Amino acid sequence: MKILVKNASVFDGINDTLQSDCALIIEDGIITSITDASSTPAEVDRTIDAHGYTVIPGLIDAHTHIAFSDTFDAMDAMTSEQLAVRSTVIARQMLERGFTTVRDVGSNCYGLKQSIDDGFVAGPRIYPSYGAISQTCGHADYRQNRAQRSNFARGVEDSSFMRQGHLVLADGVPECLKRTRDQIFMGASQIKVFGGGGASSLFDPLETIQYTREELRAIVETVANYGSYVCSHIHAGPAMKIAIEEGVRCLEHATFMDDDIARQCLDSQVWVVPQYATAELIANRQIPLGSEILYQKTERVGKGLLKQAELVEKYGLKCAFGTDLVGTPEVHAKQNLELAARKKYFGSFRGIKQATSDAGELLKLSGLLDPYPQGEIGVLRRGAWADMLLVAGNPVENLDILADPDNIKVVIKGGEIVKDRRSL
Ligand SMILES: [Zn+2]
Repeated sequence: MKILVKNASVFDGINDTLQSDCALIIEDGIITSITDASSTPAEVDRTIDAHGYTVIPGLIDAHTHIAFSDTFDAMDAMTSEQLAVRSTVIARQMLERGFTTVRDVGSNCYGLKQSIDDGFVAGPRIYPSYGAISQTCGHADYRQNRAQRSNFARGVEDSSFMRQGHLVLADGVPECLKRTRDQIFMGASQIKVFGGGGASSLFDPLETIQYTREELRAIVETVANYGSYVCSHIHAGPAMKIAIEEGVRCLEHATFMDDDIARQCLDSQVWVVPQYATAELIANRQIPLGSEILYQKTERVGKGLLKQAELVEKYGLKCAFGTDLVGTPEVHAKQNLELAARKKYFGSFRGIKQATSDAGELLKLSGLLDPYPQGEIGVLRRGAWADMLLVAGNPVENLDILADPDNIKVVIKGGEIVKDRRSL
C-alpha cells in the first residue's frame, strides 16, 4: 500500500520552521520520502490532501499508566476482565487526542498492547514497563491499610490490584533480579523502579530513599545486559543523586532538584520527565485522590516543580513530555493540558519538541528491547513511522492549539487514518 500525503506544511519534530508544500510517501507504515510537491509520484493507492493544516509527528506521552482506569481503591474491586475492557476505551481516546505512542511506566497493559498491535482495538504504540518494581513499604506498596497488613502480612496477595501485576514488590538483590527479568520476559521495553517516596502513597514520605545502591545496581545491570535502561520514580534530591550514580537513565518527576543535581543530570545525559499540569490539577482538587495526605504531598510537589522547571531550562536538560494521569476516562481526558503547561514553562517550540522528537529519542533508549524497531518515532522524515497529525493552526507557534484535542483533525498511525474530523 502506497499512500501520498500532499500539500503538507510539515513540522518535522526537530526544526522550528515548517517545510511548506511537501509530499510525503508512505509505504508499509513507514515514510519513504518527503519531497516538494513538484516531484509527486503519479502511482499511489491512496491520497490524503493536507491543504490548510499543519502536519506534525504523532504526539508521545512518555509517562502513562494506560491500564489504570480509576482510583487504586476502585480498581482493587474490579476483575481483570473489567480492567481490560476499560483500558481499551482509554487507549482509543488517547490515540484520538493525538498520542500515537506512549511509554507506559507501570501497569499490566500486556493484553492491551498485543490487541492494539494485532489490530483488534485502536490505540497508541506502547513502550511498556509492565509491573513497576517497588520495595516493600515503597511508593508502589499499595496494600494501603496498615491494619489489614498486620493481619495478613503475607505479601502482595493482600491486594487484588497488585495481584493483577500492575506493580510488583521486590526486596534484596535476588528478588530484584527475578522481578526485573520477569518484566523483560513479558516484553518490557524498559524497567520502571520506584527509587524514592511518592505523592500518591500513604506511608512513604517524599524524602525517602527507596532501594539500596546494591539493589538498584543489580536492576540497572540486568536491564543493561538486555540493551535497555531503567527509569526511576523520584522526587527527592538525595535519591536522584544515588539513581544517577548507579546508572538510571531517566528520572520520573525529578521534583526537588538543585543546581548540583541538574549539573549531574547534564554530565550523565540523564533524562527528566516531569508533570506540571497534573500536579496543578490535583492541587486544585480537579483529580480525585481520596485522602487529604495525598493532596498535601502533591501540593508540595507542585511548588517544587516551579523551581525545577527553571533548572531544566537553565541547564538545557534532556526533558520529555509525560502526564502521569491515573483515573477514569474523564481524568485521562486532561492529557493535552500538559502541552499548555509546557508552553508556559518552555515556550511552544521547546514544548512540542519535548512531546515529539525529544520523547522519541528517550523511548529509543530501549535499544534491543524496542518493540517498534522498524522506524523512528516523534519525527517526520524518511525512515520514520508514518505517525502524524493534521492540525488546524500552527502549534509550533502556539502550543495551546494542541491543548484542545478538537484542533487535531486527523490522526494517522502507521499510515492508517484512525481519526478524521476534517468535515467538522
Ligand atoms: Zn507515574
